[in-house]
Amino acid sequence: MTSVNKCKAVTIGNVSIGGPNFVVIAGPCSIESEDILREIAGGIRGFGASILRGGIFKLRTSPDSFQGVGSDGLFVAKKIREELKMPIVCEITDPRQIGDMHDIVDAFQVGSRNMYNYSLLKELGTLKKPVMLKRGFSALIEEWVMAAQYITKGGNDNVILCERGIRSFDRVTRNTLDLASVAHIKQNYSYPVIVDPSHATGIRELVAPMSMAAAAAGADGLLIEVHPKPDQALSDGFQTLDFDQFSTLMNQLGPLLNHLKRPLWS
Ligand code: PEP
Ligand code: MN
Repeated sequence: MTSVNKCKAVTIGNVSIGGPNFVVIAGPCSIESEDILREIAGGIRGFGASILRGGIFKLRTSPDSFQGVGSDGLFVAKKIREELKMPIVCEITDPRQIGDMHDIVDAFQVGSRNMYNYSLLKELGTLKKPVMLKRGFSALIEEWVMAAQYITKGGNDNVILCERGIRSFDRVTRNTLDLASVAHIKQNYSYPVIVDPSHATGIRELVAPMSMAAAAAGADGLLIEVHPKPDQALSDGFQTLDFDQFSTLMNQLGPLLNHLKRPLWS
């Protein structure tokens, strides 16, 4: 895979995304408790993930679904990040959370539902903290890129794009993974791009094959939902891998990354 445009790598903690290495970000959909997050962080790191991701404030389609543990989760994130010396990414859902989150997280995630939240994007543009911007589930690629420009225009050029699937007519998968967007962005823009096959498929058995496809399409990394007991996870358990499944995926990815000359960041 040759890139026409030179990618500007973005660093989260000590991990560079968009450079020569492929990066795996993993963690639970929602941070639940300190013990579970510790177990997940240790587990995923052991299998080769270098960044932890967990949601504290969740944007759920139904107001009756679990909305995240809220501010208490920030202390858990801080504790595990320091204890395991592992960078952490958490989703920000409202600009009023910046003050509390800024010194705890290594990058802000902007979720699919907030890709069009221009006041949030503008605020994040005034910072230097990296932003992982997910594609809106009905967003054109050009709308996604313009959303990124809301951040860079303010002076924060640390933006990573995350393809997480778009809405289509098919109902087998939760979303339709648009891998052409990844190749297109790599050829035409300098943003690093990662792929979230968990939300893109909504089916845990499809996460590994779509991870391989994402790497082959030129993605700079992956965002994978992992939980020791997915069936007991408070959100998105159906698309979440357990440790065995995550380990199998990482083992499959190794030879492909060697072939692509894209060694895993570790
Ligand atoms: C998530 O990452 O857990 C999430 C809610 O993703 P998205 O914004 O892509 O739906
Ligand atoms: Mn999720």
